[in-house]
Amino acid sequence: MFDIEIILQRGILDKKILNRYRRLQIPENKIQVTYLWIDGISNIRIKDKIIDCIPQQALDNRFGEVDDLPVWQYDGGSTYQASADNSDVVLIPKVIYKDPFKAGNNDIIALCETFHSDGSPTATNKRKECTETFCKYENEKMLFGFEQEYTVLGFGGRPFGWPIDGFPKPQGPYYCGVGGDKVFLRDLMESHIMACLYAGIDLHGTNAEVMPSQLEYQTGPTFGIKAADDLWVSRYILQRITEDFGLTVTFDPKPIPGDWNGAGCHTNFSSKSMRNDGGINVINEIISKLSKKHKEHLIAYDPHGGLDNKRRLLGTHETSSIDTFTFGISDRRASVRIPLSVSKCGKGYIEDRRPSSNCDPYSVTNAIITTIFGCH
Ligand code: ADP
Ligand code: MN
Ligand code: MN
Ligand code: MN
Repeated sequence: MFDIEIILQRGILDKKILNRYRRLQIPENKIQVTYLWIDGISNIRIKDKIIDCIPQQALDNRFGEVDDLPVWQYDGGSTYQASADNSDVVLIPKVIYKDPFKAGNNDIIALCETFHSDGSPTATNKRKECTETFCKYENEKMLFGFEQEYTVLGFGGRPFGWPIDGFPKPQGPYYCGVGGDKVFLRDLMESHIMACLYAGIDLHGTNAEVMPSQLEYQTGPTFGIKAADDLWVSRYILQRITEDFGLTVTFDPKPIPGDWNGAGCHTNFSSKSMRNDGGINVINEIISKLSKKHKEHLIAYDPHGGLDNKRRLLGTHETSSIDTFTFGISDRRASVRIPLSVSKCGKGYIEDRRPSSNCDPYSVTNAIITTIFGCH
């Protein structure tokens, strides 16, 4: 067991020390690249590489190939991705983001895909297939926007600001709340906005959630694989910022059992034909297709094939029951909600409320696109 108080003190002290070294002038041609990937249990891992050139082509081609960043490798035996006797997992950089944490102008984050030594993708490299799906249905011009809910933990692993062995006042005043007794983490939330916008993420907004110390930010609407890439990188940035605050973020979909809201990752989406006149007819067809694949979607909507969502989708606290597919206009107890504004103007997007806060957006978008456009 580690002592959370010591972690907090060390965290703040470390930052003070680091700032002294950040003032040092380092050679201009040295670029620090944070290689970021998803491990075998859907957590983010990083390691840093110092490279010798300005990867101008990569910077120009932000969402294309990043050819001039070197391929790298790591010990997959330590990330639940390989056995110790064949441990090298290959990191192939795919997209770059500006790094809000390093001092230099050209320092970047490289989002990577992971491959075994025989060239096959690792089990949690869901991005490869997802990219192929987005390419296949490129003409549909799918837009995705995620609502990422998360809970911040403090002393003793309790939600930040909660009594160690008691509970705060019941839910009610906290959602979008104002005032020191209602919102405990505004500085963290706003730091995250600035860092995400700097990095190049399509941030849409943020708000405090129903459970105290649970917050949300939204991304999108974004075309293509960038929607899912942005969500992973925004989660990384969030985890780094909570480190700075000496706190921890959890994406657990039901961190506190009982009369406290869980955390989801509502996935909003629209295709070209949903957004065009007459889109409501397309929306109804799509909802019908989704209703026939409820079980398959739940498998794709959390990293444990539906087990995480089993604790969250209880039919209470603004969730649908995990057992049945439902939809409705403005209905926050449905699996899929048609926003009131969309129903009124007869076209637009819909919200799939089922994905859990710890979902892999590559699996979620892949399942949605395949169900609504694939042949059945
Ligand atoms: P809620 O009322 O469910 O809390 P939010 O305002 O939190 O809604 O989030 C709305 C989400 O819908 C954002 O992520 C945004 O990017 C997304 N969105 C808006 N318009 C579209 C669209 N046309 N297609 C796909 N997503 C969209
Ligand atoms: Mn929301
Ligand atoms: Mn929410
Ligand atoms: Mn929502």
